[in-house]
Amino acid sequence: MGRRLAYSRRFFGQRLEQTTLMARRRQIYEGKAKILYEGPEPGTLIQYFKDDATAFNAQKRGTISGKGVLNNRISEHIFTALAAIGVPTHFIRRLNMREQLIRQVEIIPIEVVVRNVAAGSLSKRLGIDEGTQLPRTIIEYYYKDDALGDPMIADEHIACFGWASQEEMNDIADMAIRVNDFLSGMFAAIGIRLIDFKLEFGRVWDGDYARIILADEISPDGCRLWDIKSNEKLDKDRFRQDLGKVEEAYQEVARRLGLMPEGEEESAVLDFDSHRKKRGR
Ligand code: C5P
Repeated sequence: MGRRLAYSRRFFGQRLEQTTLMARRRQIYEGKAKILYEGPEPGTLIQYFKDDATAFNAQKRGTISGKGVLNNRISEHIFTALAAIGVPTHFIRRLNMREQLIRQVEIIPIEVVVRNVAAGSLSKRLGIDEGTQLPRTIIEYYYKDDALGDPMIADEHIACFGWASQEEMNDIADMAIRVNDFLSGMFAAIGIRLIDFKLEFGRVWDGDYARIILADEISPDGCRLWDIKSNEKLDKDRFRQDLGKVEEAYQEVARRLGLMPEGEEESAVLDFDSHRKKRGR
């Protein structure tokens, strides 16, 4: 009897805690790699980074252990640096290992892909060898719709279906180029070639006036990052193509950006076996 009482107290206590937690944090949306919760103030959200990974429109699923923590840090670092050069973003501040406070936006339903080097779907669609330097940077647009497999679209579709105004698309293209210039330099400085990446944008309202800001995240989940010397892939292609050492690749990007804790600094994280041996594990 006593044990049963203790059990039920523990049980209800736990339930109460969960309910309080749930009451404090209303889930707004769950995506493949992130969850959005209601933020502490109107107009804010909390973005939670999961370890879940998907590829090929979620036909391939898995988890990359620690990915959420690394992407939260990497994206914080990049969004903070972009804000410092005048690119407006939804990022407010990092809250903890897996969460950041962001501005709520109306997401523009377009994935903006910037390409410097042929890879992925561009190589496949046009038969251009992966790794071919493009004579100029290309911006592509895809309609954000999982059921349709995010089809590629032209400016004409965006205008025709009213997904964004012409003025907004000009701002988006200008920002995408600025982000590309900045990130290409930032990654080159740490021995990484920025092949391509995906951006998402959102609309925020100041009274009657709408403004476009950078949203979502920038991390190895949505970028192709190759080591400048070896062409080794340091991004989600390691998961997509079953290349192994996926966690280590994300860690290596964080390490080169100076985001890994002290003591991890000198370790070549990609050389995981020797790293483990060195640390006696
Ligand atoms: O697959 P594709 O070559 O079109 O991808 C171009 C870039 O956009 C890659 O860096 C990829 O990681 C990113 N991407 C993404 N989310 C998608 C599609 C592409 O982050 N849904």
